[in-house]
Amino acid sequence: MYKFTLLITLLFTTLSFSQSLQSPEEFLGYRIGTEFSRHADVVSYFEYVAANSDWVTYREYGKTNERRSLTYAIVTNPENQANIETIRTNQLKNAGIEDGSADPDKAIVWLSYNVHGNEASSTEASMLTLYELITTKKEWLQNTVVIIDPCINPDGRDRYTNWYNKVKATPYDTNPDAAEHNEPWPGGRANHYLFDLNRDWAWATQKETRQRLKVYNSWLPHIHVDFHEQGINNPYYFAPAAEPYHQIITPFQFQFQKEIGTNHAKYFDQNGWLFFTREVFDLLYPSYGDTYPTYTGSIGMTYEQAGGGRAGLGIKKADGTILTLVDRVAHHFTTGISTVEMAANNVDRLNSEFKKYYSNSDVSYKNFTLTGESDHLAALAELLDTHSIEYSFALSGTTSGYKYTSKKQGEMSYDQALVVSTDQPKGKLVHVLFEPEAALSTPLTYDITAWSLPYAYGLEAVASTKANSETTTVPLASERNAMSKNAAGYISKWNSMEDAKFLSALLQANIKVRFSEKAFTNSGIDYPNGSLIITRSDNNSTEFDSELITIANQFKRKLTAVQTSFASAGPDFGSSSVKLINKAKIAVLSGEQTSSLSYGATWHFFEQQLKYPVTSILAEDLSRVNLTDYDVLVLPSGRYRFDEGSLDQLKSWVRGGGNLIAIDNALKAFSDKDGFALKESEPVKEEDTIVNKLIPYAERESSRATELISGSIFKTQIDNTHPLAFGYNTTYYTLKIGSDAYALLDKGYNVAYLTDNPESVSGYAGEDALKALENSLVFGVEPMGRGSLTYMVDDPLFRAFWQNGKLFFVNALFLNNPNNYRD
Ligand SMILES: [Zn+2]
Repeated sequence: MYKFTLLITLLFTTLSFSQSLQSPEEFLGYRIGTEFSRHADVVSYFEYVAANSDWVTYREYGKTNERRSLTYAIVTNPENQANIETIRTNQLKNAGIEDGSADPDKAIVWLSYNVHGNEASSTEASMLTLYELITTKKEWLQNTVVIIDPCINPDGRDRYTNWYNKVKATPYDTNPDAAEHNEPWPGGRANHYLFDLNRDWAWATQKETRQRLKVYNSWLPHIHVDFHEQGINNPYYFAPAAEPYHQIITPFQFQFQKEIGTNHAKYFDQNGWLFFTREVFDLLYPSYGDTYPTYTGSIGMTYEQAGGGRAGLGIKKADGTILTLVDRVAHHFTTGISTVEMAANNVDRLNSEFKKYYSNSDVSYKNFTLTGESDHLAALAELLDTHSIEYSFALSGTTSGYKYTSKKQGEMSYDQALVVSTDQPKGKLVHVLFEPEAALSTPLTYDITAWSLPYAYGLEAVASTKANSETTTVPLASERNAMSKNAAGYISKWNSMEDAKFLSALLQANIKVRFSEKAFTNSGIDYPNGSLIITRSDNNSTEFDSELITIANQFKRKLTAVQTSFASAGPDFGSSSVKLINKAKIAVLSGEQTSSLSYGATWHFFEQQLKYPVTSILAEDLSRVNLTDYDVLVLPSGRYRFDEGSLDQLKSWVRGGGNLIAIDNALKAFSDKDGFALKESEPVKEEDTIVNKLIPYAERESSRATELISGSIFKTQIDNTHPLAFGYNTTYYTLKIGSDAYALLDKGYNVAYLTDNPESVSGYAGEDALKALENSLVFGVEPMGRGSLTYMVDDPLFRAFWQNGKLFFVNALFLNNPNNYRD
């Protein structure tokens, strides 16, 4: 098998060079690629090498949710090791992030392995790459620092490899039908909470990402490689990337990707290995392991080997040949080494171009000014901190430029605003994250096409081409409360996730909380509907005031103590419009009928964001569960196979007072079914069918784009008199991730919806898809008996980054009290 020769030759050469240092094979006791290595064993090998070589330092940068180590190795010659802090800070000085001048003479390459857990060959390759660099490629390490993260996603990788080791035949079975090639739900791709870590770099919702970004931002490498795997029949993929490219990417970044690709091609051609470039994997969505580094000045690249969760140690491909783990490792090893070679040969260019990247004088928007609810501003500021992006808070002023809500030039005045300038080292990243709309050369992208942060955080914003002179930094007010022993009760606002977390903590402390369905005035202050009311009569313990104040201070909530429950306008505290919030028992469906991403996002929301208990129930076990034990049942997106019996079970539970929340594809379990009000809108096709039938083969893919919505932002109308929309204004910007459309409910409440002229404010939406969205539902409630079904066409928990949608979900859990619909 000629394919193995390169690897074998390399292993033999390295052995003769360093008798003292064990190769991965010697250390682990098997040839790399003939077994899947456990994460702990990979860590042991890196520790062993660092302990026995002064060319390697190895550090832990964090732990995963399942307490596995997140690590990185710094690989360079001993003189550089001794000087490593200077090398690192010189890089930051070159970017303008640290003060002082520097004349850096080192290249920094960062190799990230195995972000997708079941694309498991790359972690194996990381060990061979480490060994190769410090044995036969030492000369490159004179002027190059290589940082190796052997596994970005250890929980996912071990989930995959432990499963594989458990079911695999001996010897391994190459028949694709074999169990070892058919990974069970949810697979090993994602992390513990089933998040795709290669969609999380910019939003940093996951523990792995947040810990990695701290280290990554302290280095900002010249080159970053994210190693992946794809379908088993594909040739290897490497840079240059596919269109669309983001416009902020510089000519040098294109050019150098191409040069690296050419270097790889040389080795692949020598070995007779197939590859492809420039197709499929684009550079647009900013949350990938290639784009995020690109937007911070790196040459950011994705490498894709054939393999993934299906491939095991060996599998027969469609052409009859066998793809082995040994081959997969050899390819990733080769591109990793070739990348370091390119860095070592181009140190001066990499440094001078890196410096140029950080000059942001040519960026079109100079300033983004955002105003709105202070919790939303604070949440956004926290995200900016994660990326080491600078910002300031400005007090009262006016700014002009592109207004996000009107999509026109205009003025915006504010009492308090967050100002983010592009005149800072991370200016290009700021531009990408905040710009109203990313220009697209083709709508056929690998991912969503809109993410603009002002819409995601529910803020009014202006993008300005002029610098904002006002740069006063004013800290956001922080609330402290004092006890008021004579108070009839306390009132607190309801319009942010911080309010929701506060409610969650109160309910778990068994403090009874009410909300007002109507606006009211008490002691001269007006309160909108949804305001929380915590009364002494509901909570008659002596500890009540101190417990409540402690929790409010912990969540920085402002409580207004009122001496009377009498309202000068609107309902009094004792009114039937002031409803008690139930400490709901909540269940969520999981398992292979659900989308693992949607289930994971829901699970993460309860455990890590809202911090409220939830019971996960396998969808296939539903008929064995006594649903009357639960108040709320959440159906994440999925392909549910409910038979009539299950649908009847759900219906009778809802009629008896159950609160069912269905998200995204879960709506298909109810749409157009007997006894449910939900109807799917048929996609509208162009009438001129002859023309459609005669679209040439070569144009079919792009013609399909008219039916597409690839992650776009839409402005929706809101009925904010309904509890599902308490805390919101009359408009809301939703992220649509697909083109499914549902008609407005005949029997029920259409709480968020698109009108007869649906307009995508950012991102791609094809004309046929837009027609189907006319007068369509976004969020709605169908009352049924004593309970209700809440339909969420767009998933507000998608990737956990659409901050402003989350309160709809919390309202559905707690304020949309099914008892409201009692007949
Ligand atoms: Zn991948």
